[in-house]
Amino acid sequence: MSSKYLAISFCLLIIGIASVAIGQDIAYKEDPEAAKRMTLLLKDFEPHPMVHLAVHEVPRAKFPVIDIHNHVNDAQGINGDNVPPAEVVANMDRANVKTIVILTGLWGEKLQAVLDNMVKPYPGRFVVFTQMDWSKIDDSKFSAKMGQQLDDAVGRGARGLKVLKDLGLGVRDKTGKLVAIDDERMDPVWEECGRLGIPVAIHSTDPEAFFTPTDKHNERYEELMRNPTWSFYGAAFPSKEKLLEERNHVFAKHPHTNFVALHVANWPENLDAVSAWLKKYPNMSVEFGAREAELGRQPRRARQFFMEFQDRIMFGTDSEPDPKMYANYFRWLETTDEYFEYWGYPGQGRWEIYGMELPDEVLEKVYHKNAERIFAQFKDIAKAGE
Ligand SMILES: [Zn+2]
Repeated sequence: MSSKYLAISFCLLIIGIASVAIGQDIAYKEDPEAAKRMTLLLKDFEPHPMVHLAVHEVPRAKFPVIDIHNHVNDAQGINGDNVPPAEVVANMDRANVKTIVILTGLWGEKLQAVLDNMVKPYPGRFVVFTQMDWSKIDDSKFSAKMGQQLDDAVGRGARGLKVLKDLGLGVRDKTGKLVAIDDERMDPVWEECGRLGIPVAIHSTDPEAFFTPTDKHNERYEELMRNPTWSFYGAAFPSKEKLLEERNHVFAKHPHTNFVALHVANWPENLDAVSAWLKKYPNMSVEFGAREAELGRQPRRARQFFMEFQDRIMFGTDSEPDPKMYANYFRWLETTDEYFEYWGYPGQGRWEIYGMELPDEVLEKVYHKNAERIFAQFKDIAKAGE
């Protein structure tokens, strides 16, 4: 080894020792100045989980699926642009989705257009629901007219009635008062649904956080900042509990009508409450559209809920029928994977979900059997009431 090389090595060694000596002292007390240095904005915070876990992709459901909560190519344009129906069907085939229920079909000619576009060319692959025309709420013959509108819709091919959250939170009569979910003007319509054997898919209230202030304690803070009109906090709106009470009153008053309480009866944050309702109202069932995040963050309680009410829970997504979306839901229902992103993360909140590994007999019921049982109750309109 040359002396020049030795000299260089020696210098590097000195630098090395010096850098250790002047390196950071590991402190065992938190920095009192930390709050001043934490200037990263919440909107820019995107931590990557460092946990190394098994990933089981489930691109195809284990059993054929009926997605009972969808809006693809609907009459209201809820999902935006129309997708070529053949493309929708190809995506369904890839994911093992046999039928999609398009809830927002409106009525009359608009309903007809959805039926012509989706149901006629693909029989069995799509089911369309009709809706009420709230602009007629002040009409003295509202109940009779809505009954006729419903009969006309079912005659055209609608197989259920969808009620959006605007009943309770948006529909007002001419006095400016919000129309209650259990307003008596709707009683004949609920009864007619029972007579025809068609289910009512009803969305009442919204996540619990939407009824609390949009502040630092709100777990859906970012979602509410992005969508300020989704907040129903304050005196302008009835409380969540009041609205749910009104909805449940309808279930009790119309025991011969099947009600699908959408979004896990809109209280997946409180499965004890939903369980009590399912026990109390035999004509009520639920689906979990857009509530994968809520159920997925409480996998043990949710699994218990699925086991107990396996005959009353239906598969729904409330999302565009993208094969990746379906794969995400199937992974949650079928695997034991831990701590992964729910579909749409972090849109609803900054938490991740866990798989439930539901047994086959429960999966079959949730994926299609429960929905089939409800749709089998449809009575041909000409024979209904006989
Ligand atoms: Zn929906």
